Amino acid sequence: MNKKLSFVVPVYFEEAVISRFILEMTEVLETFSFDYEIVFIDDGSTDNTVSIIKQEALSNSSIKLIELSYNHGKQAALTAGITHASGDYLLYMDPDLQDPPSEIGRFITEIEKGYDLVFGVRKEKKDSFINRIFSRIFWGVLRKFTGLKLPKGLAVMRIFNRKFANKFLEYQEQNRFIEGIFMHIGMKQSTIEIDQRERYAGTSKFNFKKKMELAFNAIFDFSELPLKLAVKLGVAFILIGIIVLAVIVFLKLYLVDFQSGWPSIIGSLIIATGVQLFFIGIAALYVGKIYKESKGRPLFSIKELTNLNDNT
Ligand code: UDP
Ligand code: MG
Repeated sequence: MNKKLSFVVPVYFEEAVISRFILEMTEVLETFSFDYEIVFIDDGSTDNTVSIIKQEALSNSSIKLIELSYNHGKQAALTAGITHASGDYLLYMDPDLQDPPSEIGRFITEIEKGYDLVFGVRKEKKDSFINRIFSRIFWGVLRKFTGLKLPKGLAVMRIFNRKFANKFLEYQEQNRFIEGIFMHIGMKQSTIEIDQRERYAGTSKFNFKKKMELAFNAIFDFSELPLKLAVKLGVAFILIGIIVLAVIVFLKLYLVDFQSGWPSIIGSLIIATGVQLFFIGIAALYVGKIYKESKGRPLFSIKELTNLNDNT
């Protein structure tokens, strides 16, 4: 029996690119001997994304659609896709054609060497200057904070095998940072360099807010650094406080008789209160996460399935 490739493709207001994506994909896939399915996950678009995919799915049963009932965010959408994909190899792609389907063959060749996961990394990023800078800071900070050894210049496209997908599905956390989970799973990983193109059409759906949310999730899920920072800063402030007090006492007793007065008291009170609030805030962030996890809510809610059975 032929091996099967499952493409997991989240879509959110992508009406401008879907048809072109399917066209390029089917052209490339015809040249392989693999069976395939393209599992689209609609993340609550209200444009024609869904109707275009459903239309395509009528004439091609390999095109499948999971409609989430509202916008869950890309991480949950991906998880829904991986849950329903049935292939031996799963490939994750965006539909905007930034990572070209023509690279699929190279991903397959690489993973067939015996890896569990192959990340695409880009030779150069075709993006605006601001986006590139932001990306660099984003991933740089993430690497520092989380200590995860994420490959540099990660592209979206990646392939992993069934074993890896099953491991992924064992992760139950609600706040998810997929790349972090991938690194946490470990197993045998590799990277290949791929070419990148401009987004075929439409605009990026990742606004600043979404990016910040992802960064916070990543940092708080994969790092206890903020907590350790709290302890270290706390100790530092106590030490500084003791030194300052000692100096004042020393000056007053042995050198000069001065009025230290209100300002210094109020000043130090404000600083102390600020420090406390700051760290209570950090603790609250973690408590909030625990609360969210402890509810054990399902990760996503599906409205409708096309060309797929509800087997979960
Ligand atoms: N996406 C999603 N839900 C969202 C935001 C984005 O499923 O809430 C999808 C989007 O349709 C695209 C992918 O995530 O397939 C990446 O988004 P985009 O290409 O806009 O981001 P960029 O490549 O600029 O980071
Ligand atoms: Mg993109």
